[in-house]
Amino acid sequence: MTPAHDLAARLGRALDTRPETLRACAQDFGHIVRGAPLGVLRPRSAAEIKDLLECAGPQGIPVSVRGGGHSLYGQGQADGGIVLDLRAMNRVGPVTDDQVSVQAGALWRELLAVTLPHRRTPAVLTDYLGAGIGGVLSAGGLGGATHRHGLVADQVLELEVVTGAGEHRICSPDRDPELFHAVLAGLGQCAVIVSATLRLVPAAARVRRYCLYYADLGGCLADQRRLAEEQRFPYLEGQARPADGPGWQYMIEAVAPYDGPYPLDDRTLLAGLSYDPAAVETEDLGYGEFAHRVDTDEEALRATGEWLHPHPWLNLLLPHDSAESVVRAVLADPAFRDLRDTGLVLLYPVLSSRLRAPFFSRPSGEVLYLFALLRTAPPGSPETVAAMLAANRAAYELARSRGGVAYPVNALPLSDADWQDHHGVRWPAFAEAKRRHDPHLVLARGHGMRF
Ligand SMILES: Cc1cc2nc3c(=O)[nH]c(=O)nc-3n(C[C@H](O)[C@H](O)[C@H](O)COP(=O)(O)OP(=O)(O)OC[C@H]3O[C@@H](n4cnc5c(N)ncnc54)[C@H](O)[C@@H]3O)c2cc1C
Repeated sequence: MTPAHDLAARLGRALDTRPETLRACAQDFGHIVRGAPLGVLRPRSAAEIKDLLECAGPQGIPVSVRGGGHSLYGQGQADGGIVLDLRAMNRVGPVTDDQVSVQAGALWRELLAVTLPHRRTPAVLTDYLGAGIGGVLSAGGLGGATHRHGLVADQVLELEVVTGAGEHRICSPDRDPELFHAVLAGLGQCAVIVSATLRLVPAAARVRRYCLYYADLGGCLADQRRLAEEQRFPYLEGQARPADGPGWQYMIEAVAPYDGPYPLDDRTLLAGLSYDPAAVETEDLGYGEFAHRVDTDEEALRATGEWLHPHPWLNLLLPHDSAESVVRAVLADPAFRDLRDTGLVLLYPVLSSRLRAPFFSRPSGEVLYLFALLRTAPPGSPETVAAMLAANRAAYELARSRGGVAYPVNALPLSDADWQDHHGVRWPAFAEAKRRHDPHLVLARGHGMRF
C-alpha cells in the first residue's frame, strides 16, 4: 500500500490520485519548479482539514494548501505529500456594512462580486483579483491603498484556522492573539486558514486615475514619498517603463475615488509635483472596473499563451535611502534587459507604520518602496529561466546589502540563512510559533524554510 493509499484508508475517503490531478498540482503560475504530490484532497469543511492534519502530521507527510494556485516557485506544492485544494471552500458572506466572512478558498474577485452590490469593499486589495483569499493573507498582500491602510492581511478581524497540530481554532487580536499574528503574513507555516472575517469600507461609485510621468527617477521617488506622507490620494502606485531611447521613464498612478460629480480640482490635487505636464493621463472609471483592471491583461496573456509561460518574478521592498541606487543598478543591468520587452516593473511607496502584521518583514525606516520585477520567460528554455533566477539572486543580494528585503512571493530560492536573515530579530519567535502550532513541521514546506 502506498503512503497515499494508507492515508486515504485512514481518512476513510479517497484522495484524488489521478495522474492528471497530480500533474496539475505539480505546477503553479511560476511554471518553473514541479513537485508531484501523492494525492489531492478537496475538503468541504474544517473537520476534513483537521482529519487530514491529524493523520499526516504524525507520519511526517508534507501538506500544502492550494487556493488560487499563483505561487511563483512551488510554495504551494507538496512534493511527495498531500495538496489540500481549498477551491471548493469558497463561500462568501454574510456581508454587513462593515464586515464580511469568506472561506479561504474563494478568490478575491468572488469576494468583490458579493460585497460590491452592497457598495462595500476591503480597504486594501492587491492589483490582481484572481489570487486566493488564503494565499494573499498568508503572504501579506500589498496594493495601492497599503500606504494608507496597511496590508490586505491587516484588514482581518478574525480567522478560523486548523493548525498543523490538527487543532481547529478561532483567533483574533483579542482571542488567541499569538496564533492570529503568527498566521497573517505567516506564509502558511503554522496553520491552514479555513475562513476569515474582513473589515469592509464603503466603495465609491467611480474613481479618477491620474498617470504622471517623470524622466527622472529621483523626482518620481520624491513625489511618491510626498504623496504617501501627505496621504493625498487613497490609492498610490507607480511603475518604471521603457523610455523611447535606451533608458527608463517613471510613472505615478494616483487614484481618487468619488461619488456623484467629480468634487475635486485636478490642478489643486496635483499641485507642487514635478511630473511632465505635457504627458498627464486622466481617466474616469467605475470602481469595479478599476478593481478588475488586471482582468483584461490576464485575458490578453491567456490568448497569447504567455499566462502559462514561466514567470521568474522578483518582489523586493527597499528602504527610502537606497531605493534610487538599487532601482538604477537593477534597471541598468543587462541581465534584466528583457524587462523592456515583456516585463512589468512596479515601483511604489508604502509606509512602514501602516504595516501591522508582525511577521511581515520590512526594511527599517518609515518610507519603503515595493520594487517588483515581473517578467516572463519563453517556454522550453530552461537555460533562460536559470539565467533569470541568477539575476533575481543578484538583485536580491544587492537590495539586501543596502537594507532591502524580499517580499516573499518570488521565484527566488532562499537558504536557511536567508530565511533567518529575512525575519531578522523576529526569527526566534517565528520558529517558536512554527514548532508550537505545527510540531511535525509538515505545513507549507514549498517555501523551503527549515526549523
Ligand atoms: C498576476 C498576479 C498579480 C499579483 N499581484 C499582487 C499584488 O498586487 N500584491 C500582492 O501582494 N501580491 C500579488 N500577487 C502575489 C499573490 O498575492 C501571491 O502569490 C499569493 O500567495 C497567491 O495566492 P494563491 O492562493 O493564488 O496561490 P497558491 O499558490 O494557491 O497559494 C500561495 C501560498 O499561500 C499559501 N496558502 C494558500 N491558501 C492558504 C490557506 N488557506 N491557509 C494557509 N496558507 C495558504 C500556500 O500554501 C502557498 O504557500 C500577484 C500574483 C499574480 C500571479
